[in-house]
Amino acid sequence: MINPHLMRVPKLLALCLMSVCLSAVPALAKDVVDFKPGFNLFSRDQDVQLGREASAEVEKELPLVKDPQVARYVSELGMRLTKFVPGGDANYPWSFRVADSQEINAFALPGGFIYVNRGVLEAADNEAEVAGVIAHEIGHVVMRHGTHQASQAMLAQMPLAVFGSILGQSTSLGAQLAQLGIGLGVNSILLKNSRGAESQSDQIGTYILYQAGYNPHAMADFFDIIQKKYPQRTLEFFSDHPNPENRIAKVDALIPQLGPVRDWKTDSREFQMAKAETLKMPPPPKGKTAPTASAIAPVAPAAPSNRLVKYQGKGFAISLPDNWKVQESEGGVILAPAGGIVAGAGGDSAQAYGASISRYIPPSRRVKLSQATQQIIDALRNSNPNLRVVRQSKGRVKGRAALSTLLENDSPLQGQKEADHLVTVSGRDEVLVVVFIAPQSAYESYRPTFEEMLKSLEVR
Ligand SMILES: [Zn+2]
Repeated sequence: MINPHLMRVPKLLALCLMSVCLSAVPALAKDVVDFKPGFNLFSRDQDVQLGREASAEVEKELPLVKDPQVARYVSELGMRLTKFVPGGDANYPWSFRVADSQEINAFALPGGFIYVNRGVLEAADNEAEVAGVIAHEIGHVVMRHGTHQASQAMLAQMPLAVFGSILGQSTSLGAQLAQLGIGLGVNSILLKNSRGAESQSDQIGTYILYQAGYNPHAMADFFDIIQKKYPQRTLEFFSDHPNPENRIAKVDALIPQLGPVRDWKTDSREFQMAKAETLKMPPPPKGKTAPTASAIAPVAPAAPSNRLVKYQGKGFAISLPDNWKVQESEGGVILAPAGGIVAGAGGDSAQAYGASISRYIPPSRRVKLSQATQQIIDALRNSNPNLRVVRQSKGRVKGRAALSTLLENDSPLQGQKEADHLVTVSGRDEVLVVVFIAPQSAYESYRPTFEEMLKSLEVR
């Protein structure tokens, strides 16, 4: 008996084709800056395509500042800074928009779609500080940190051979990533930078400031000041941009290598006017300033704890978050957070969050794992007519043959779709069946937990 309930088809995002402008930008000395993008499965054109889709998603949730003076100021400042990208690798369809939020934050989507919150303008003392924030975001774009992150997440999820077929299709990239549990909204993995990425963006941001004639200390100093001065309003910023170790010292060490001390520019009349304009604007719309990617049911369970505890089952062991409960039954075991089991359509209880583990004994020992898995899916489909296989790949769990199947189904939560990761593992005479379950809108936030659990799985 496998858990009945699974998810379903991610809504297809419209595919936006774009043409990249290929105008040449003069190359600049860049030897002192770490200017090597990391591992990436996407092409640069795909960065742009994905960024465009993601920006459309983000703007559904994120109100923008319409004031033309403020919007133009930030856009022109951003465009000016792109001229100083090290190596001149700035051929992106840049856009710089101001989000109507007083959180001190900024973020960059792949392909050059950069958002600066009005809170940055309000907190900054001068133009060099705002330029520093924007230059840092430009660093994330040109180093392609967003799709680097997505690439790593994808790599963790499936063998390389599958990527070609995923990324080669001409449908929406966003829809394809959604199938892998990678969302495009404001909580997207595209925005979660590592400390290494932060350090690299710091270098590029500082380099751009220097080349553009601004005080190159302004970026790192501003990050330091706002963290101390506005600890509550910068949480989001430092969650998207985790502080590298010795941020200030590292930047200070870089600056002398960029060139001689100059008569650096720090402020402008335009900045002070834009700041004054921003401060006069009405407060941002309530409740929209800190959007989350999920419109999950109001009783969504608490986030899974990072502390895992080991559960020893019959013939297997697995670790689960220490704030989840274990329910054993004849058919198997359910691991779920409080609130993870809900009333299903027929009034029966159904699992909306968590994992279930059961065993399947194939009709004969000669049944291959792939056939057994198909039998399991067929059985599931009996009670889940909208169940759909998204993707399947081979793997191993602690040396045993395993099959990883991504499924979509209706969630027991009304109107929602569910993502299910079915993992079948060959045992002696049986197949261990593990299903990781979450509504599609929340899958991204559960995925790290599911991955840790899968890594801990032991089969006897
Ligand atoms: Zn950053």
